[in-house]
Amino acid sequence: MLDADFFRRWMTGMAAAVDREADRLTELDSAIGDADHGANLRRGFAAVVKALEEEPSGTPGSLLVLAGRQLISTVGGASGPLYGTLLRRAGKALGDAAEVAPVQLAEALRVGVAAVAQLGGAKAGDKTMLDALEPAVEALAESLGESFAAAADAADQGALATVPMRARKGRAGYLGERSVGHQDPGAASAALLVATLAAARGAR
Ligand code: ADP
Ligand code: MG
Repeated sequence: MLDADFFRRWMTGMAAAVDREADRLTELDSAIGDADHGANLRRGFAAVVKALEEEPSGTPGSLLVLAGRQLISTVGGASGPLYGTLLRRAGKALGDAAEVAPVQLAEALRVGVAAVAQLGGAKAGDKTMLDALEPAVEALAESLGESFAAAADAADQGALATVPMRARKGRAGYLGERSVGHQDPGAASAALLVATLAAARGAR
């Protein structure tokens, strides 16, 4: 079972990963965006960690909702509301149990990713974070929530697969053909989110 500590480890792990990889994320965003993705996520996940520290109680669901809210209110860019929606909707889907089964998390993440697609009007192949998130939640659901490592591998492959894609959404969408040949920054950060999820489970 996954308890509140697991979700805290996931979020603090993501904050550390974003800190470590901020320059790379910003470089990717400077090629096909406005060079703020690393800074955006750094600010957002630092706020998440702070809010979680100030909330010593909390269930898996309520902690994810809290984290999502922080991202929505502190990240200026498109990625804030999108990642915020992912965590908030997944958290709501988990309800108020003190512990959740991995298969429940797999299903909750699927709900969250569907909400991201709806909010952004994007689908797989549009060269966005969804190109990493969708294969990851599919891999997790296929293994009934057991294989976090498979989810992380799928997210990595999905992020790399955005390189030859032509962007259809967000700032990169305005570049059209010129977006080809660059990895999508949001897909790269989504792969980090899934990798840190796997690490919180001890699967990576
Ligand atoms: P901004 O584009 O406002 O500067 P960020 O740089 O923080 O915001 O985030 C950019 C990332 O957000 C993109 O690389 C992409 O993955 C994701 N993104 C942008 N628009 C959408 C959308 N409509 N649907 C899904 N993801 C999107
Ligand atoms: Mg940007």
